[in-house]
Amino acid sequence: MNYRDGFRRMEAAGHFRRRLADHGRQLAREGRVVRLMEVCGSHTMAIARYAIRDFLPAGIRLVSGPGCPVCVTDPGYLDAAIELADRGVIVSTFGDMVRVPGSRSTLAQARAEGGRVEVCYSPMSALELARNHPASEVVFLAVGFETTVAPVIAMLDAAVSQGIGNLSLLTAFKRIPPALAALISDPGIRIDGLLCPAHVSAIIGADAYLPFAETHGVACVVAGFEPLDILLGLDGLLQQYLSGKARVDNQYARVVKPGGNRQALALMDRYLLPGDASWRGLGTIPASALNLRPEFSRFDAGNRHGLILQPGRLNPGCLCGEILKGKLAPEECPLFGGACHPDRPLGPCMVSSEGNCAAAFRYGGKVGMASGVCA
Ligand code: SF4
Repeated sequence: MNYRDGFRRMEAAGHFRRRLADHGRQLAREGRVVRLMEVCGSHTMAIARYAIRDFLPAGIRLVSGPGCPVCVTDPGYLDAAIELADRGVIVSTFGDMVRVPGSRSTLAQARAEGGRVEVCYSPMSALELARNHPASEVVFLAVGFETTVAPVIAMLDAAVSQGIGNLSLLTAFKRIPPALAALISDPGIRIDGLLCPAHVSAIIGADAYLPFAETHGVACVVAGFEPLDILLGLDGLLQQYLSGKARVDNQYARVVKPGGNRQALALMDRYLLPGDASWRGLGTIPASALNLRPEFSRFDAGNRHGLILQPGRLNPGCLCGEILKGKLAPEECPLFGGACHPDRPLGPCMVSSEGNCAAAFRYGGKVGMASGVCA
């Protein structure tokens, strides 16, 4: 970034801060408080890193929702992955999953005890592992929202076309729209506006949020991750809220199309079917999972290795569930920063690079704004 760009960005940031202050004054005059939610781990981190909450006027509450796929995954899934590692299967996973607590242990502990747990940065690494170890079974931990589903299924498609027979997926794919519908329909949670996720929207498209605006009257803005993107998104949400006209604004049109990525969606549809999924904190949400179609069950690690996924045991003191619903702020958990710390996390929200507790711990600032999001 050169100086000219830097000055332009500072000017734009100042412009949006003034606009947010104007919206705050109008809310104060009208005696209203607006409650906005972001549902994207990258937004969570960017909002904390750039201290965006610190200059929001008092009438604007911005809370984080279930935007971290690792955080919403049941500990029973980790138990199954640990069992696979204990059995000598090569477990390939993104790094965040390694330290997330299961019911009794972690994948890091399984690795320390001799289990083969391989951290990868791309799903294609799992394919390479399977190709390089033809005498071993490789299981990829397929955890993620639509953003992650697309590249994982592209990897599976490559495995199918290359005739790779020793690779399977332990799926915990989740869909964002059913989770948003569940949150919006919860009478105990009030959401006036959604800062819609950017990467997920690049796959599913901005039109996926139309029902929330048109049926539920919730303002929706698809926004990118740069500080200016987020400020622009918040300004758009407040304009909608104050005008009383909810709609879907796509402020990230340089990446997100109304109908999404049709090629990725078609590939996902070829391999996957919606099913019910259990979300930490939100319970079972219909049609919020994406499971392998029966004709691809040979790639389903559960079937292939005879695993029965059981609900896991949560740490009784961990309040991740309430935090993921935006009902509590991380600092409202009595264990935050003491018994639960990034070096010795008790819940996934403190482990994941996109977790709400990790963001609050790392950047501090005015995160404790969740109280009041409930109706
Ligand atoms: S601070 Fe730790 S124990 Fe508390 S909710 Fe967050 S992850 Fe769970």
